[in-house]
Amino acid sequence: MNQQFVMSVKMNFMKTSIIIGLICLASAAGTTWAKPDKVDGLNVPSGRIPQEIKDNRYPRTYFPGTERVGKDEMRITALGTGMPNQSPSNVATSFLVELGNGESFLFDLGTGTTDRLAGLEADYSKLDKVFASHLHSDHVGDIAALWIAGWLGGRYTPLHVYGPSGSSPELGTKVHIDHIRAAWAWDVTSRAGILPNAGGEIIAHEFDFSKTAVVYNENGVKIMSFPAIHIRDGSVSYRLDWNGLSFVFGGDSFPNRWFVKEAKGADLVVHECFFTPEQWVNISGFPYKQAYWVTSLIHTPPEGFGKLMSMVEPRMAVAYHYWNHRDIEFEIFERVRKTYDGPLTMADDLTIFNVTKDHIEVREVTFNHESWPMGTGKEWDTAPRGEPATGLSSDWLIEGKLEGINPPPTQPID
Ligand SMILES: [Zn+2]
Ligand SMILES: [Zn+2]
Repeated sequence: MNQQFVMSVKMNFMKTSIIIGLICLASAAGTTWAKPDKVDGLNVPSGRIPQEIKDNRYPRTYFPGTERVGKDEMRITALGTGMPNQSPSNVATSFLVELGNGESFLFDLGTGTTDRLAGLEADYSKLDKVFASHLHSDHVGDIAALWIAGWLGGRYTPLHVYGPSGSSPELGTKVHIDHIRAAWAWDVTSRAGILPNAGGEIIAHEFDFSKTAVVYNENGVKIMSFPAIHIRDGSVSYRLDWNGLSFVFGGDSFPNRWFVKEAKGADLVVHECFFTPEQWVNISGFPYKQAYWVTSLIHTPPEGFGKLMSMVEPRMAVAYHYWNHRDIEFEIFERVRKTYDGPLTMADDLTIFNVTKDHIEVREVTFNHESWPMGTGKEWDTAPRGEPATGLSSDWLIEGKLEGINPPPTQPID
């Protein structure tokens, strides 16, 4: 047994002893390990009360669960800003929009992004709407994860996924979601009776990708979809308008006229800003011809992003869809600055924006790497459930149970 291993065993023993000690102290003091409280509609641990921000005096970093969204404010968090090739520091695309009216909207939900939601200590009961820009895995790869884990974590209503049609029905959002539902049948049916029925539903709202049209209009929130140009038919971008504020989310696209028209003068305008072809040759090993095709014919490279934003003139331009690695990010920034000199944020994962009519605050989230599930609310606890799943295991399998191994219940379970 080497020295390092002995140290590690000792440390683990000490940690365990401390935790046991804390539990004993809590019991002795009569403390119970309560469910999280509902405070102002946010699901936060006991004792933590989100504060109202006044006079634009925001803390330097954003700590999850500590700030109330102002009633006239829009808060946008870049959950992921990276690529389909996974990188722990830049997961794939997703932007979370939280409004002062208490509603939340997710724009894309690429691979790895649900981990970010957990670290943000998200209230899953509010995360029931995803707007997909297109069906690449870096934009929709975590939908099944939110559907199931969000259901376990507090959502008691269906998950609604809005997304574009394709050039044929099998390439559209509805078929994509139908296949997710079918693929996870084992999982979902196994939870019958334990979780609220409605939370186990996933509903696709497919719309015509080729039209500029309002695809969501409720409670003063209007979301419009318009076409994007990305490899094949079936990519879109979105514009959300609420309370005189606007957020534009560009899915992957070659620079296009619909984007300039719909994003013109908006408050926060997010658009992809890809690597340069030379960078992509070095990073990926692609031959130059393929690298140019990817970076500059199906995506928008840095100079293109800058030119586009010079035409759009937003209150804040937000660039994403590259890795914020030191050896490339400065060059991307410099190339954007060759063609655009307006307000600019080179978004990283967990860059957060507070947008009001007179102010845009740009910060980073201090993420909770050790977050626990935030717990369910009263509505989740009491939402209708079906009969508990029975008869799902074969008799011979049941006969293999070792009785008397697990302790009996300590509270009534009927
Ligand atoms: Zn992408
Ligand atoms: Zn894409």
